[in-house]
Amino acid sequence: PSVSRLLVLVTVSGGSLVAYADAGPTNGVPSIASTANVDEKKKKVVVLGTGWAGTSFLKNIKDPSYEVQVISPRNYFAFTPLLPSVTCGTVEARSIVEPIRNLVRKKRVDIRFNEAECYKIDAENRKLYCRSNENNNLNGKKEFVVDYDYLVIAVGAQVNTFNTPGVVENCHFLKEVEDAQRIRRTVIDCFERASLPTLDEEDRKKILHFAVVGGGPTGVEFAAELHDFVNEDLVKLYPGLQEFVKITLLEAGDHILNMFDKRITTFAEEKFRRDGIDVKTGSMVIKVTDKEISTKEMKNGEISSMPYGMTVWSTGIGTRPIIKDFMTQIGQANRRALATDEWLRVEGCDNVYALGDCATINQRKVMEDISAIFSKADKDNSGTLTVKEFQEVIDDICERYPQVELYLKNKQMHNIVDLLKGSKEDVAKESIELDIEEFKSALSQVDSQMKNLPATAQVAAQQGAYLAHCFNRMEECEKYPEGPLRFRGSGRHRFRPFRYKHLGQFAPLGGEQTAAQLPGDWVSIGHSSQWLWYSVYASKQVSWRTRALVVTDWTRRFIFGRDSSRI
Ligand code: FAD
Repeated sequence: PSVSRLLVLVTVSGGSLVAYADAGPTNGVPSIASTANVDEKKKKVVVLGTGWAGTSFLKNIKDPSYEVQVISPRNYFAFTPLLPSVTCGTVEARSIVEPIRNLVRKKRVDIRFNEAECYKIDAENRKLYCRSNENNNLNGKKEFVVDYDYLVIAVGAQVNTFNTPGVVENCHFLKEVEDAQRIRRTVIDCFERASLPTLDEEDRKKILHFAVVGGGPTGVEFAAELHDFVNEDLVKLYPGLQEFVKITLLEAGDHILNMFDKRITTFAEEKFRRDGIDVKTGSMVIKVTDKEISTKEMKNGEISSMPYGMTVWSTGIGTRPIIKDFMTQIGQANRRALATDEWLRVEGCDNVYALGDCATINQRKVMEDISAIFSKADKDNSGTLTVKEFQEVIDDICERYPQVELYLKNKQMHNIVDLLKGSKEDVAKESIELDIEEFKSALSQVDSQMKNLPATAQVAAQQGAYLAHCFNRMEECEKYPEGPLRFRGSGRHRFRPFRYKHLGQFAPLGGEQTAAQLPGDWVSIGHSSQWLWYSVYASKQVSWRTRALVVTDWTRRFIFGRDSSRI
């Protein structure tokens, strides 16, 4: 891909789950699994999902006073940033996955795993309705119910098709390891089919037309990988077919990689044009049939169709049904993701946390709180406050929301108040022209700065580590609910809110060239960034085993090229 956008204890009726009940739902209520002896004192934490957020939580949870049960339909962690490399055999699928049981095996915390999918969350009764993986059970799915004390929802997101007709039936997605493996087989299939002697030139062109929908990091990285695969490996094996191969990248917006610095976008577009990848910007896919893709030009509304051999759909993420259902239950319908506060607690639910792609920190709530604090302080409804009152309000806000403090420091706004406050004793008592609305509208910029954290592995992993850290300190904090002495009586939350630290992002562009955008808007494009990309991705692997496998795969590819066997 692209851009280096860098578990669940179930207990039933007070015991830990050890066996699935066999029967399916009775009157809609699945039967409850049997239980074993369990240390009553242990709090049960159920983690849904073994992706970036869930795994990071599991790797960082250290307090042995929890019993953790992980529920996920996938018994492994997948290093998604290398999925595009799997589509062309640059790295093998098994090199980027690590069994979750391996990752938690040596931990002092009691962590158990169940390969199952949770299909309903009942937060009111603290119950989770789950069913085992379809493929594993010849006798059908097993259903069971799990209780929890704390729930960590980290189920990620699903592909967003924007309800475009024909997409689900005819396009490949690039979200899971299986998707990448399917794409790899289909690419080889297309080349083998196009080699058959019965075809004419038009048929060959059609079969070897690869369309990629979505000019985000994943689409761009896949197009670049495919171009390298075709030009470095497949042309040698299918010598007569090179002239028929075409890769088209369709993007509805004006540019590809539009979340990157303009220099990267321009470089990527120019490089793709030089490489012969047809970049069609301002072109929205409106329908896909088994033979053709129909697009609408954003500028003039012109509709056209093109035949294709394989289409990969990569246009962003949508909400999983379990999250949609849960949001409806808790009054959060019509949202894209579960709204949490800055401590990652799901709004309106006790002891439920959400992180990663399925969650979003509700910044609107921050501004609502700030408005309420101002309204309370402005007793006479004048719209102004004395310097003293203003300072008190700001101190209160800064204590609750450290990002506001940071913002004010950056804008040197704290200094204005300090200056006024320090000027004269009586000024501090006077009502002076400090307009609340003006101040609030300045603060709303904090909102937009903090809003919409990108749906990336980096955010998910940091949230998982943050939440585990809070859980590790929960017992200590319960003993001293008001936190360290300096905060007592302040009403301040006992944990610092979650703060995202952006470490930069990569966009591999093929031909051993990568664009890197690092903190401080430092941009680097070219071969040197490709080596940085190799180092970062090798270092970010979750285990020494996968690290060794990935580096070996890269070396194998350098020496022998990519394998084109269709297995
Ligand atoms: P996921 O990692 O998707 O994990 C969700 C987990 O929940 C999975 O284990 C899933 O099996 C499980 N689950 C699903 N439904 C249920 C259920 N009902 N019950 C229980 N468990 C369930 N980000 C970057 O920062 N850099 C990159 O370079 C990058 N490249 C990417 C390339 C590709 C091809 C893709 C698809 C994504 C890429 N991302 C990248 C984004 C990154 O992968 C996601 O942001 C990240 O995976 C989100 O983590 P998560 O834990 O929220 O969800």
